[in-house]
Amino acid sequence: MTYPTPRRRVVLLGATGSIGRQACDVIARFPDRFELVGAVAGRDAAALDAIARRFGVARTALVHPDPSAVPHVGCATGIDAACEIAAMDADVVCVAITGAAAIRPTLAAIDAGVTVASATKEVLVMAGDLVKARAAASGARIITIDSEHSALWQCLRGEDPASVSRLVLTASGGPFLRRPLDTFASITPAEAMAHPTWNMGTKITIDSATMMNKGLEIIEAHFLFDVPYASIDVAIQPTSIIHSWVEFRDGAVIAQLGVPDMRVPIALALADGERLPGVGPRLDLRDASPLEVLALDGNRFPAIGLARAAGERGGLAPCVFNAANEEAVAAFTSGQCRFDEIVSLVGAALGAFDDGDASTLERVLDADAWARGFVRANTAGAVPAR
Ligand code: MG
Repeated sequence: MTYPTPRRRVVLLGATGSIGRQACDVIARFPDRFELVGAVAGRDAAALDAIARRFGVARTALVHPDPSAVPHVGCATGIDAACEIAAMDADVVCVAITGAAAIRPTLAAIDAGVTVASATKEVLVMAGDLVKARAAASGARIITIDSEHSALWQCLRGEDPASVSRLVLTASGGPFLRRPLDTFASITPAEAMAHPTWNMGTKITIDSATMMNKGLEIIEAHFLFDVPYASIDVAIQPTSIIHSWVEFRDGAVIAQLGVPDMRVPIALALADGERLPGVGPRLDLRDASPLEVLALDGNRFPAIGLARAAGERGGLAPCVFNAANEEAVAAFTSGQCRFDEIVSLVGAALGAFDDGDASTLERVLDADAWARGFVRANTAGAVPAR
């Protein structure tokens, strides 16, 4: 089969996770537009093998192969191999590795000057200044796959940045938007995993229940769009139809709407902003009404105020915010802390942390490790009260 236009060569990091699988869906649906040339997974050898065979992927790597698993022939192993694939000749590197583990492969892609389509907000949160400096040096571009930020990108296209007065990130409110506050201590991991509108991986789903996800997204938006924290707000839109909006200085508001489906922001990023046909389900607004929009209750969701404070503090504080949260989420899902302790552990870590500058990867990784150690020390052996 021949193709009339050059296909975009895609490298997929985190190929077997929730976003990675949906990116594979998009690539498979548009074989005349995309070619998967490299794929990296964490530890799932069988799933990576299936992707390698399905797409005829030239280069693959497993970062942490299970000792009992046998990777397919030609599959490399380890973080250095993953970074080499991240830096290979490609049109776009899609980063869909969960959390801070994505930092080194992301920087490898950025240093190679490639366009990076990132679904991993944690990288910008932990090292936004560093990532932007390295991208400026290499000429790499960063396109977001986060649905809210993809929405803001769509609203801002062709607009003068000086005309923007406020970015408003929407949040569904998660499963606990209306749950009585005095029962938050007894929330179980299974309850926190029951997201009302989005079907996502474990970490981001817990983050959506605490609203840490929206907190991370405030910091992500600050770095992506160069907008001060005071001009980034959050509103609750329970059905996740309005994906975010921008208010402009003349009074105009531009929002981006759609049925919640991550394949839409994934395809838009992989295609470098071009809209491909039939990616997501059709939205008829008459079927979506009423489009309820509510104010955020900062008492119910203290994660938002905490994120804003960490962002305003700058330096390594956002890195500590992110790492402490990742560790606290792991502690919650393994029964080491209560749901309501996730945010308070992150607050305690930020309170105990001495500020520092985030100008090198070593400093960022040191702060990341310190925050994880702080949370582990404060959860180890704890038996949560239910
Ligand atoms: Mg999001």
